Amino acid sequence: METTRLAVVSNRLAIVVEKGNDGKWMIKSGSGGLVTALGPVLRDRGGLWIGWLGSNLQGSMDDGALEELLAQGSRETGYSLKPVDLTQEEIQKYYFGFSNEILWPLFHDLPSRCNFDPAYWRVYEQVNAKFARAIAENTGEEEDYVWVHDYQLILVADQLKKMGVNRHTGFFLHIPFPPLDGFIRLPWRFQILEAMLQYDLVGFQTVRDRRNFMDCVRMLIPGSKVIGHGQVARCLTPKREVLVGTFPISIDFKQFAEFAGTREVQDLAWIIHANLPERQLILGVDRLDYTKGIPHRLLAFANALERYPELRRKITLIQVVVPSRQDVPEYEALKHEIERLVGEINGRFTEVGWTPVHYIYRSLNRVELLAYYRTCEVALITPLKDGMNLVAKEFCASSIENNGVLILSEFAGAAAQLYNGALLVNPYDIEGVADAIYEAFIMDGETRHARMEKMRRSIQKNDIFHWVNAFLRAGIAKDLSQFPKA
Ligand code: UDP
Repeated sequence: METTRLAVVSNRLAIVVEKGNDGKWMIKSGSGGLVTALGPVLRDRGGLWIGWLGSNLQGSMDDGALEELLAQGSRETGYSLKPVDLTQEEIQKYYFGFSNEILWPLFHDLPSRCNFDPAYWRVYEQVNAKFARAIAENTGEEEDYVWVHDYQLILVADQLKKMGVNRHTGFFLHIPFPPLDGFIRLPWRFQILEAMLQYDLVGFQTVRDRRNFMDCVRMLIPGSKVIGHGQVARCLTPKREVLVGTFPISIDFKQFAEFAGTREVQDLAWIIHANLPERQLILGVDRLDYTKGIPHRLLAFANALERYPELRRKITLIQVVVPSRQDVPEYEALKHEIERLVGEINGRFTEVGWTPVHYIYRSLNRVELLAYYRTCEVALITPLKDGMNLVAKEFCASSIENNGVLILSEFAGAAAQLYNGALLVNPYDIEGVADAIYEAFIMDGETRHARMEKMRRSIQKNDIFHWVNAFLRAGIAKDLSQFPKA
């Protein structure tokens, strides 16, 4: 078991290839939590990462130059990097199309936003087959464990089998899995469900996601049943036996807590608050996405100012929106909607020396992000639906004096772990969210401390390394006796 090599497969590779200011191509390490968490495991096991480079480099760089960059990337990261090339049409139909216009909205309970274009499905299959070929070429049957990530690559294990390639495989879904009523609208519901059952282990963020999945399996695949209720259960269908588990993803708690205490972060945190004195700062940080509930949140903030006039001049909302999927018209419309609401609220409530909403539309660097986490008294995180929401956990990890208050949507995966310390809200309930803002504002220091301490302890114990180990322990274990018996 110790010698098993790990092959991580995700839509994006662990590095980004970019053109520098001097016009030369260069590589940068990916910065996400997945790269941080899996990097050491891949290095120790001598593993590899398979994924798309994130842009269409064909034709813009010769093969030799790309190989050289990848070799350099492998030397720096300590593991091999195997890119999957996608054509412009594949990027449009597999990535923007099937993944982001069908699976993303459907799995986030927003079926009315789906565009069920049949052309997308064919290209999704074709690209998943491409990834499967890359796996077949770069891994072996006995010695490798293939860990596939997320909704873009659901068909990979199925495609491997169709090619007659046997691999030991695991799949982790980073986004929610929808309830049966939503899932059955998918024209390819049988194919998607059967494909998920081709993995040896399927992991979800929360018990609710796994339950939704099992409801769909029981309903659509007659004769199926689940055995066990623990972190890992067995799913028996007439054709296969698959492990299904819950593995809530997390963050590198120690790194956030330590970085939050550094001088550069503290200095900037002080400057931010010194410029907005004598008031509590409320922070929202989200990628531009309709699942994040930003317009609902702005309406709730305005409702709080309306119904609790004592909050005026005493609170300021700092809303950071990180640009995302900028060339998609729907996202552009959402940006306009947010900007209209910010303008309306500021137009209505601003007084001399106080602007209620500070709106930042760009991505923050690490020091800025941590400084906002540290200096803001309240985090207002109200997605309509979210697989986990790492910002919630990062805010808590950075609250090193235990004085922050987290207002969290009950529809974020993180709520399943942070319910004992956060103020949980229904993001659709404008008055309820406004009441929570007021409750956070008047919460005394002792209560804040006790609540935050609970959340920080839970995140520290269940950090990103814990997540990796839990998944791999369940996935690579050849001895299945530890799991519930049929
Ligand atoms: N983040 C970032 N730049 C920013 C603001 C946030 O890279 O300017 C990061 C943040 O640290 C977090 C991630 O973006 O790790 C957002 O993850 P989350 O799970 O909250 O939402 P997602 O965007 O994955 O839906």
